[in-house]
Amino acid sequence: MKVGRIVKVSGPLVVAEGMEEANIYDVVKVSDNKLIGEIIEMRNDEASIQVYEETTGIGPGEPVVTTGQPLSVELGPGLVSTMFDGIQRPLEKIREIAGDFLARGVEVPALDKEVKWHFTPVAKVGDEVGVGDILGTVQETKVVLHKIMVPDGIKGKIKTIEEGDFTVEETVCVVAEDAKDHNVQMMQKWPVRKGRGYAKKLNPDEPLVTGQRVIDTFFPVTKGGTAAIPGPFGSGKTVVQHQLAKWADAEIVVYVGCGERGNEMTEVLNDFPKIIDPKTGESLMERTVLIANTSNMPVAAREASLYTGVTVAEYFRDMGYSVAIMADSTSRWAEALREMSSRLEEMPGDEGYPAYLASRAAAFYERAGKVICLGKDEREGALTVIGAVSPPGGDISEPVSQATLRIVKVFWGLDAPLAYMRHFPAISWLESYTLYQTKADEWMNANVDPEFSANRSKAMNLLQEESSLQEIVRLVGRDSLSEGDQLKIEAARSIREDYLQQNAFHEEDTYASLAKQNLMLKMVLSYYKEGLRGLEQGVYWDKIENMSIREKISRAKYLPEKDIGQINDIMEKVKKDMDDFISEGGILDA
Ligand code: ADP
Ligand code: MG
Repeated sequence: MKVGRIVKVSGPLVVAEGMEEANIYDVVKVSDNKLIGEIIEMRNDEASIQVYEETTGIGPGEPVVTTGQPLSVELGPGLVSTMFDGIQRPLEKIREIAGDFLARGVEVPALDKEVKWHFTPVAKVGDEVGVGDILGTVQETKVVLHKIMVPDGIKGKIKTIEEGDFTVEETVCVVAEDAKDHNVQMMQKWPVRKGRGYAKKLNPDEPLVTGQRVIDTFFPVTKGGTAAIPGPFGSGKTVVQHQLAKWADAEIVVYVGCGERGNEMTEVLNDFPKIIDPKTGESLMERTVLIANTSNMPVAAREASLYTGVTVAEYFRDMGYSVAIMADSTSRWAEALREMSSRLEEMPGDEGYPAYLASRAAAFYERAGKVICLGKDEREGALTVIGAVSPPGGDISEPVSQATLRIVKVFWGLDAPLAYMRHFPAISWLESYTLYQTKADEWMNANVDPEFSANRSKAMNLLQEESSLQEIVRLVGRDSLSEGDQLKIEAARSIREDYLQQNAFHEEDTYASLAKQNLMLKMVLSYYKEGLRGLEQGVYWDKIENMSIREKISRAKYLPEKDIGQINDIMEKVKKDMDDFISEGGILDA
C-alpha cells in the first residue's frame, strides 16, 4: 500500500498528497501517531482529511495510510449501557488505558472482543436465510434481547448453528451459498454515513409516550417521527432531552451529547443507573447507549457523532424495536460542519455555513421512520429522531434552525420569557406545533379516552383565548373584563400552572402516565365547566375565583401514580361546591 505524505495541517483538517490509492470517505491513519481521520475531499492524488483527534504537533512530511474502509461502527452485543465517543471508542476503556484525558491514537475496539455472550439459535440447520433474518438471540441486558441478524451480502442454507457462549468475533452459524460457505459472527460492521435499508416505510401513527404533559397532550411525536427543540441558552433543551431519554416508551434509547458541556454527560452516567424504568422495572441504563462528544473533545468527531449514534439506533430498529435517538445539540454538529467547510475554503453560504447544511440535516432526520425491516418475518421497527437546536440568542431565523424546521414534523419551541418566569418545560403552547396531531388524536381517543382529543382542543382554545384577553388586560385592566372572561383567564392559568408546568426534578411530577394526564386534563377543565355553570346560575365570580378546592387542583400533579383515582374525588368536589354555591343562591360571601 502506498504511503501518502502530509502537506498541510490546519486544525482538524490535514491535507496529504500521494493518496491516489485512497477513495473519498476512506478512513485513514494520520502520522506515526495513527490518528484516525476520514477523507472528505479528493483532488487527484491530494486528500483532504477530517481528523478525529487533536492534530497539534503533527506536521508536513508525516505518513498517511488509508484503511480502504469507510467510517463504520461495530454492531453486536456489548453496545447497551456503554458510553462511546463520536467515533465509537468506549470511553471507559480508553480512560483505563490512557487516564483522564484522551490520549491520541489509542486503539481500543468499540466492542469488547473477549467477553462471551450466550447465543441461543432461533433458526435451525437447513433453513434458507437472507439479509436481516434472525439467526438467534443474546440476552444482552436484563431488558434487551439482542437479535443476531444475517449480515449484508449473505444468503443461503444454514449448515451449522449452535447454542453456546461466543465472543462477537467467533462463528455462531455457517451459511452455505451454492458451493461457498459463509461464516457468520455476532458482530457486524455498518458504514455510518449511509442510511440502513428496509423493506417498506410505514406511516408513523402511534405516539411516543414521554410522560411529559405538554408534549404528550399538546404536541406529540410519533414512534418513527421527527422533532426539534430549538431554544436559547438556559431555556431547558438539555433537561427536555434528558426527560425524553429517561421516560419515553422506547425500547432502546441512544443519547448523543454533541458539543455540549461534559458534566451533562457525567450527570446522565450518574443518574440513569439509579432511575427505574416504569415499563421494565429495571435500571434505565439497561436500555441506553450513550455517545459523548462534549465541548472539550475534538471538533471533527462532533460531526461524526450524530452518524455514529443514528447508525447504532438503526441497528436496534432493525431488530424490530422502537428506538429513540436524542441529539444535544445539532447546532454544535452544524458548527463543526462549518469549521471544516471554511478550512476547506469552500464557498460560504448563509452565516458561513456550507450550502449543503440543509441537505446534510435532512439526511440525518430522514433516517427516522417506522418501517418493516429487512428479513422474512416482516417485523416492524421504529426510529424516532429528536434534535435540540441552539440558535444564538434564541433567534430561530438563523440557518440551522431554519434547515431543521423545514424537515421535522414536530416543533417544541422553547421560550426564553417562560424559562425566565420558571415555567418549565418552557415549551411555548402558542408557537409549537405537531404534524402528527390527527394520528395522535385517533390513537389517544382509542387507547386512553374517547373524549381525549376533544378535551385537548378545549384546553388549547382556552390558552389561545387567554392570550388575546391578556392583550385587553394590558390595555384597559382586568376589571373591565366580563366575569365570563375572567373565568377564562383563571381557567387558562390553571391549565398553565397546574397542568403544563411539570417539574423534572420532582419525584412524582417528573413523569405522568397517559391515565394521569387524562384525569388531570379533565380536572382542570372541570373547574372551567363548573365555573361557567355557576356564573349562569348567578354565583358571584369572587366565590368561583376563590374556591378552596383549587388548592387541591394545583397539587394533583404530585400525586403518585397509584393514587391518581383521587383526581376523581377532586372533580366531584368541584361539582359539589358549585352545587352548594348555587343552592345558597349566590348571595353569600365565599
Ligand atoms: P439549555 O440546555 O437550553 O441551555 P438546560 O436544559 O440546561 O438549558 O436548563 C437550564 C435550567 O432550567 C436547568 O438547570 C433547570 O434548573 C431549569 N429547568 C429546565 N427545564 C426544567 C424542568 N422541566 N423542570 C425544572 N427545571 C427545569
Ligand atoms: Mg443544554
